[in-house]
Amino acid sequence: MRKPIVAANWKMNLTKKSAEDLIAKLNEFVYEDVEVIIMPPFTLLDMAASIADNRIKLGAQNCYYKKSGAFTGEISPDMLVDIGCKYVIVGHSERRHIFGNDLLRKKLAASKRAGLIPVYCIGETLDEKRKGKKESVLSEQLNIIDNLSMSLIVAYEPVWAIGTGVAAEVVTIRETIKLIRQKLREKGVKASVLYGGSVKPDNAKEIASETLIDGALVGGSGLNASSFLQIIDIFKEVRKC
Ligand code: PEP
Repeated sequence: MRKPIVAANWKMNLTKKSAEDLIAKLNEFVYEDVEVIIMPPFTLLDMAASIADNRIKLGAQNCYYKKSGAFTGEISPDMLVDIGCKYVIVGHSERRHIFGNDLLRKKLAASKRAGLIPVYCIGETLDEKRKGKKESVLSEQLNIIDNLSMSLIVAYEPVWAIGTGVAAEVVTIRETIKLIRQKLREKGVKASVLYGGSVKPDNAKEIASETLIDGALVGGSGLNASSFLQIIDIFKEVRKC
């Protein structure tokens, strides 16, 4: 069975001290059998790279698509690789809904060029779900990856489940991930597919037991060492069997 992936998107949270405390607790865990990724804000990446156990992989929450230049305030994929990142989130809904879709293809291509693995987030809003547009929305979001042959992680994150405390039902996740995998196959793209949206210790077992799901992208629960480690442990145990 493939190694499950459990990634924590810290969003715009934590200062140096609180992040050091969190990483110190994460460092005590035994990480075999699970690919664990932490995605701190840019300000904490360098510190995280220097103190995190090297079995914990580092990812950023965003990048620009240019290599370098006069782009005040932006960070390039090459800069992220330079400080030890292996992954980068592209298209998180909290950004997609503000900044639009147009740059995402360029960001994916630039990540590939630099050797980063994108965690490409897709998902429908509540309104799109209610109007029966889920499949067309996901298709459109996946069309961005056409002809991009690269290592990729796709995170299915229904927007209505993010930060609400209410995850999608496993049967819904399974059906949606089946659909996503079918579309990826049609495009000839090989990708791991994660679920994200209110994953917590309480629901992790049910989610981890669905083997079509390659892992979890965790927001809120990733800021608490005990919750995050419980989720990792659950994936580790469930997938061992
Ligand atoms: C996220 O924002 O990627 C996420 C999954 O958040 P949460 O787990 O808090 O819903």
